[in-house]
Amino acid sequence: MSVFSHPEFDGHEHVAFHHDQASGLRAIIAVHSTRLGPGLGGCRMWPYASDAEALTDVLRLSRGMTYKAALAGLPQGGGKSVILGDPRHDKSPALMRAMGRFVESLNGRYIVAEDSGTSVPDIRLMAEQTRHVGGLADAASIAAGRSGDPSPATALGVFIGLQAAVRAALGRDDLRGLKVAIQGVGNVGYRLARHLHEAGAKLWVTDLHQPAVDRAVAEFGATAVAMEAIHALDVDVFAPCALGAVLNETRIPQIKAKVIAGAANNQLAKPRDGQRVLDHGLLYAPDYVINAGGIIDIHYEGPGYNEAVVHAHLQRIGTTLTEIFTRSFATERPTGEIADAMAEAIFRA
Ligand code: NAD
Repeated sequence: MSVFSHPEFDGHEHVAFHHDQASGLRAIIAVHSTRLGPGLGGCRMWPYASDAEALTDVLRLSRGMTYKAALAGLPQGGGKSVILGDPRHDKSPALMRAMGRFVESLNGRYIVAEDSGTSVPDIRLMAEQTRHVGGLADAASIAAGRSGDPSPATALGVFIGLQAAVRAALGRDDLRGLKVAIQGVGNVGYRLARHLHEAGAKLWVTDLHQPAVDRAVAEFGATAVAMEAIHALDVDVFAPCALGAVLNETRIPQIKAKVIAGAANNQLAKPRDGQRVLDHGLLYAPDYVINAGGIIDIHYEGPGYNEAVVHAHLQRIGTTLTEIFTRSFATERPTGEIADAMAEAIFRA
């Protein structure tokens, strides 16, 4: 398994592997860049089929965090970690504490937070061993009913970004009657659905998990649709909020919406799908720009957390996307390419 010559290596500053015999922890931390600050990124726990698959995932995710933090205007670099294991069967307090010690061994070059397969209680266990954690509310925030879960901020950021995309593609500010198809109504998709419902949008939803669909139908009057049909509905906006690689060679030509704006990471199956999306006349809000609300929230988490300050920062997601759309219209280049170039100009400066 190569590291330096790995196709996703992309000049990573640091890649660390760790095995803790006592707890059974097997984990990788990747720090892509600390030019703007410590590498901030979640810890994903996943039953990877191989070590190579885990390495590829952590390198791609870590690189993405550098771009995300730069365009979100945060003094933070990009990093990510993965634990090889099934979060439903292999998790234990000892494993999470061992992960905390692994994070600590990087002396603050990497700051850990939640990701798929890890949640606030896991990060609390890590925090027993290291100060280098994000995504945890302090006592005052907990008393105010917050947990440190970044999903509400991610959902609000996606809502703000979706509004910017609708303004750019459809020339409208009012979301009343806007038709939106949401793929995945989990932590972020459900909250996005609520924002949209409150703004008067009409919703179509799907999810692997039937109770999640039922909740959106009951609370927001959404229409439930089959999983394989959601991307091809005759709506204004398609909001992928479940899994990655949704936008591929087969599905892109089937999309009837004019706007793609959702929370899922790595929505483009391949880099060239960005051009396909453009050629098909779709306005795509680059995933790492529109879903940056979570790291913005994590950045401010801790003593003195001020919701108004966080919300003001989340509004900048809309401003940044408007700039990306304007440049894309002017140059006829894919929005993802424009976003990458803007991020590189910031973190390579
Ligand atoms: P989640 O697990 O709470 O929700 C995802 C939902 O998608 C689940 O309800 C799941 O059942 C459903 N799902 C999975 N596969 C599906 C499929 N094929 N078709 C339809 N539904 C399917 O996760 P989340 O925290 O809401 O995150 C959603 C996406 O947003 C992920 O891609 C995540 O990486 C990304 N994201 C989340 C955050 C955050 O703050 N939570 C931040 C940035 C990006």
